[in-house]
Amino acid sequence: MTETRRLPGTVTEQWDWQLRAACRDYDDNLFFHPEHERGQARERRAQEAKEICARCPVQRNCLLHALNVDEPYGVWGGYTPHERRQLQGAVDEFAAL
Ligand code: SF4
Repeated sequence: MTETRRLPGTVTEQWDWQLRAACRDYDDNLFFHPEHERGQARERRAQEAKEICARCPVQRNCLLHALNVDEPYGVWGGYTPHERRQLQGAVDEFAAL
């Protein structure tokens, strides 16, 4: 009999969490900054996105995905790209101990 436990799960299993994402009901532009957006406008938009992430039931899945694929754009899991780079750096440092 074939051992199937080590095989990768179905694509549906890997992405189903997105169906429960709180951001599904919001404009993508809230999570991805428009070209040339800077300063307070950018911070305000990102903060609004983070508030949605804070009450999202799949925040952990979302953040882990963004870290795994090194997602360079947008607010994912409540973290901006800059914050994710800092988080990944701290994780890498910890792993190197
Ligand atoms: S954590 Fe934020 S970006 Fe990720 S799925 Fe939830 S609402 Fe969307």
